[in-house]
Amino acid sequence: MGGRARAARISSGDVDAQKAINAAAPKVPDLGKRIMALFKPYTKAIILMVIFVLITALISVFPPLVTQRIFDEGLFPTGTTGVTLAPNMPHLLRLLGIMVLLLLFSNVIGIWQTWLTSKTGNRVMGDLRVKLFDHLQKMELAFFTKTKTGVIQSRLANDVGGVATVLTNTVSSVVGNTVTVIAAAVTMLILSWQLTLIAFLLMPIMVIVQRRVGTIRARVAAQTQESLSTMTAITQESLSVSGILLAKSFGRAKDESARYSQENDNQIALQVKQMMTGQWFFALVQVFVSLLPALIYLLSGIFIQRGDTGITAGTLVAFTTVQARLLMPMMGLLRVALDLQTSAALFARIFEYLDMVPSIQDAPNAHEVNKKRVGEIEFKNVDFRYPDANEDERPTLGNVSFTIKPGEFVAFVGPSGAGKTTVGYLIARLHEVASGRILFAGDDVRELSLQSLVDHIGIVSQQSYLFHDTIAANLRYAKPDATDEELRIACTKSNILATIDAMPEGMETVVGEQGYRLSGGERQRLAIARVILKDSPVLILDEATSALDTVSERIVQEALDEASKNRTTVAIAHRLSTVQSADRIVVLKAGEIEESGTHEELLALDGLYAQLYSQQESEPHPGQLPKEALQGHQSIPWQHVDE
Ligand code: ATP
Repeated sequence: MGGRARAARISSGDVDAQKAINAAAPKVPDLGKRIMALFKPYTKAIILMVIFVLITALISVFPPLVTQRIFDEGLFPTGTTGVTLAPNMPHLLRLLGIMVLLLLFSNVIGIWQTWLTSKTGNRVMGDLRVKLFDHLQKMELAFFTKTKTGVIQSRLANDVGGVATVLTNTVSSVVGNTVTVIAAAVTMLILSWQLTLIAFLLMPIMVIVQRRVGTIRARVAAQTQESLSTMTAITQESLSVSGILLAKSFGRAKDESARYSQENDNQIALQVKQMMTGQWFFALVQVFVSLLPALIYLLSGIFIQRGDTGITAGTLVAFTTVQARLLMPMMGLLRVALDLQTSAALFARIFEYLDMVPSIQDAPNAHEVNKKRVGEIEFKNVDFRYPDANEDERPTLGNVSFTIKPGEFVAFVGPSGAGKTTVGYLIARLHEVASGRILFAGDDVRELSLQSLVDHIGIVSQQSYLFHDTIAANLRYAKPDATDEELRIACTKSNILATIDAMPEGMETVVGEQGYRLSGGERQRLAIARVILKDSPVLILDEATSALDTVSERIVQEALDEASKNRTTVAIAHRLSTVQSADRIVVLKAGEIEESGTHEELLALDGLYAQLYSQQESEPHPGQLPKEALQGHQSIPWQHVDE
């Protein structure tokens, strides 16, 4: 393993780690209001939940009061003279019976309430997840080319998942614990206001400290989520089929593990930090509350010594019982307050994504494609620059103008990086022009509904994507209601049917991650079958035959010729052989149209096209059959020509 290379990779990991540490939760205005709005569709369930919680809390006031009576009237009843009498067994049993009933009732309601809470919390989280997924679907292509897939996935999985527990627990915990604390406080006040005052003396300090701890914890939580998203991105990049292939072929498996391990250490440190933030505070609260009975006994001793007869043994037992029962809800409230602050950081990250405005979306008055003029495509002085491109650089496309008539087969050729693919993407409005206009069926693409536009265009891209599903399912992506017969016809046209039929499971064969179980050529032919199935009036073929050997290239070429009949076709090609018969060939160079015409016209012009053509004739395409093996096939292999 190359030590220097490894070091370089690790130091880039350092930068990531540092970024994660510096990261704070994004600032989102009206965060509280927006979180509350998520619960709005579930108002009824929440009201019911609050009622259940109130009932349980109300019931919880009684057991201590019953305890007081158990002691003072059941176990140690006092006679009129103040002398302690023998236990009053019938009364004691009655009181114990009431206590058991109260406990049973409150626990049954508790189960209902848990069910309702978990259902509501999970629904709210589910809604949020779908909303985020839906919003991401609307984001423009450029967002995905500049954001790591793993980072996007992490917002959906880890951030939304992270707020799940809070959503599930908060409502019941806040309502339940608040009511219990209030009820307990009332009970304590009924029992003895002096002792109550002492018991609550430190409350304000606790609240102040809790807020401070919460702020720190929210910051650490944001850092933890950032680190988690870095880890997801590493996993997604490294453990995908392409990532593994790259790591194995370059012998970088250990470096990948080192990168993962380093971020993992960062994650562990942050998790521990998040967990430990505020532990001392909770410990202090616990110690104080645990020591409180001792303080109460001491003060009671002093009060009784002074002749305060209001404090009986029953009052003291009941008071300390209530007080002990106060510990859990109080701690619960403090924890919920902390969790809320922590989850606010996560919500902020989710809302940050939800607030992104897609740069390409339907105009308010977007209309359908004019069916009568489908097939007309026109570029009028189009300038285009990729969003993250340097302002000083030349634009990707500069002052490009051309017109395509319905049914025409127009090819775009030119050196690598000339902007051919970009032209195809712009027709489908996958990017937005900087200036100039693109007309589709006579209308500016910006005035058309995106759905209507894409419904009229079929694209076979350079790297055709296949889902990890069966061949049939991949094909039906283009036409969900396609019959088996239609699938077979499309496959026949793209010259893949025999290959599919030779597979033991035929159309039901699972193609594997990104179609890796198929050869490059098979993947491409399947993608062509898919676009044939879509049957759209405009076809954009971005080097659709580049992954095929010369023999199947010819057969697919025939299929494409067949598919492009009566359709407007824009073919982006490296191999000039595939587009010689085009109605027109547009030659692009450095984002500008250098020349255009038919194959013969361009050869006669003796310009760039003629130069590329003669170059291809003399340089066989790697992996291609030698010319003599072509047996009459006229295609001329061509290699990428860099400027
Ligand atoms: P090739 O024949 O190699 O596929 P091409 O002619 O199809 O090249 P394009 O893919 O259109 O070229 O790219 C034109 C230029 O735009 C290139 O310089 C490329 O680096 C740049 N480019 C392409 N995609 C992006 C992107 N998403 N962000 C920034 N720049 C991009």
